[in-house]
Amino acid sequence: MSSTERPSGPTYSVAARLTLFFVLFFGVVTLAGGVALYQLVNQHVSRELDEDIARDMGEFVRVAGHGRLSSLKEAFASYEKASGKDDCFARLIDPNGNVVVSTHMDSWPYMPLPGEAGPVTNTPKFATVDLDDNRLKARLLSASVPSLGYLQMGVSLEKSESLLAHFRRYGIAVLALILVLGAPAGWWLARRAMAGVEVVTRTARSVADGNFSDRVDVTGYGQEIDGLVRSFNLMVERVQAVMAEMRQVNDNIAHDLRSPLTRIRGLAEHAALNFDGQPEGAELAGTIVEECDRLMQMINTMLDISEAETGVGRLQLEVVDLNDLVAQAVELFAGVAEDHGVQLAFERIPEPLNIRGDRRKLQRALTNLVDNAIKYTPRGGSVRIGARRDGERTEVVVSDTGVGIPAKDLPKIFDRFYRADESRHQTGNGLGLSLAQAVAKAHGGGISVSSQPGVGSVFTLILPN
Ligand code: ADP
Repeated sequence: MSSTERPSGPTYSVAARLTLFFVLFFGVVTLAGGVALYQLVNQHVSRELDEDIARDMGEFVRVAGHGRLSSLKEAFASYEKASGKDDCFARLIDPNGNVVVSTHMDSWPYMPLPGEAGPVTNTPKFATVDLDDNRLKARLLSASVPSLGYLQMGVSLEKSESLLAHFRRYGIAVLALILVLGAPAGWWLARRAMAGVEVVTRTARSVADGNFSDRVDVTGYGQEIDGLVRSFNLMVERVQAVMAEMRQVNDNIAHDLRSPLTRIRGLAEHAALNFDGQPEGAELAGTIVEECDRLMQMINTMLDISEAETGVGRLQLEVVDLNDLVAQAVELFAGVAEDHGVQLAFERIPEPLNIRGDRRKLQRALTNLVDNAIKYTPRGGSVRIGARRDGERTEVVVSDTGVGIPAKDLPKIFDRFYRADESRHQTGNGLGLSLAQAVAKAHGGGISVSSQPGVGSVFTLILPN
């Protein structure tokens, strides 16, 4: 892939991706950690419980082994007292399934006999059963007692279940909290990390619009971003230097061409006047004079653009009434418009529209706009000019019902020498709009354009008051 190619498909903001990543990552890690911890606690609680039951069972088996049921009864009573009759039971069952000795079974009405709750072997065996009434569970342990039958005991799992339920609830709450707080926190962190990149992007866009003196301040965005900022500034510095050098070379060439061109023109003029009896020669010399004039005008316009681009310092500022300026332009172009069969309308507003500007330069900018509007409007069309105050700025709007400008050409029409393909049959050199814009920018303003091919164009010269 070359460096200018980009991956296809939709692009998402890096900050959004990072946020999603943070939230997913911490969500998954917390969930996995919570599940693992839950398993550990669950196992621990179950193991402790089983150990307690097994210990008590060992004691009952020992007591029952002595064959005295009264001792077993006493042992059951103290067990019941210590653990609570709702939370545990213990009973001795003879081989025919009859209960011989038992704790209170009020809370344990449906307890399966040892055989029903799993096989009874010589080694004690645990089983977990559902208590139908309140959907809780109990842990059962059965053990055979030689010659007496079986001992069975059970412990309600209510306490351990409720402990685990608490754990689950808190776990879910913590997870939700991480997701809810993690999203904005991740977004904030990601935006902070990306802030430097956004500043570089904004400045790069501004540089692309021609503001080569723009730089990004290195204000501790982080090592990597500061590195990017420094490299970016260095690059713009170099581009600016190359541009300035190129402009200087252009200006020098344009400047140096003026003298030989003036000499050629002088010679051609002399020849035109002295071609006695050779009309073709005189005509030819006349054409050379005209071409020299055209070239000279082009060179002068290029130098004027360069001068205007050097900024406000070169302007001869005075109070200018834009209404007057427009009226003069309309007067100047009335004849041209008539020759073209184009109606020229000027909407004058009563109050003066004074700004501080360079009258001669503004006049040139405006005449270029009006000249274009007439030039690119076919016979029968119309051109309207109006000036208005709009808050902090004053605008001169030149609209026409002409050929319009294709969307692909719109961003380039202010470039030097650029002419849309459709306009090439017209006279012109592609410098008029560059000059107009350079003048507008030198005044701290600009020119905006909207256009629809086949319908017309609207150029707005914007100047600060
Ligand atoms: P040009 O000498 O070619 O008129 P400009 O710099 O004045 O040079 O304009 C550049 C190009 O912008 C023109 O060649 C033309 O394609 C387009 N353009 C400018 N003004 C208009 C307009 N009012 N209507 C249509 N196209 C226009």
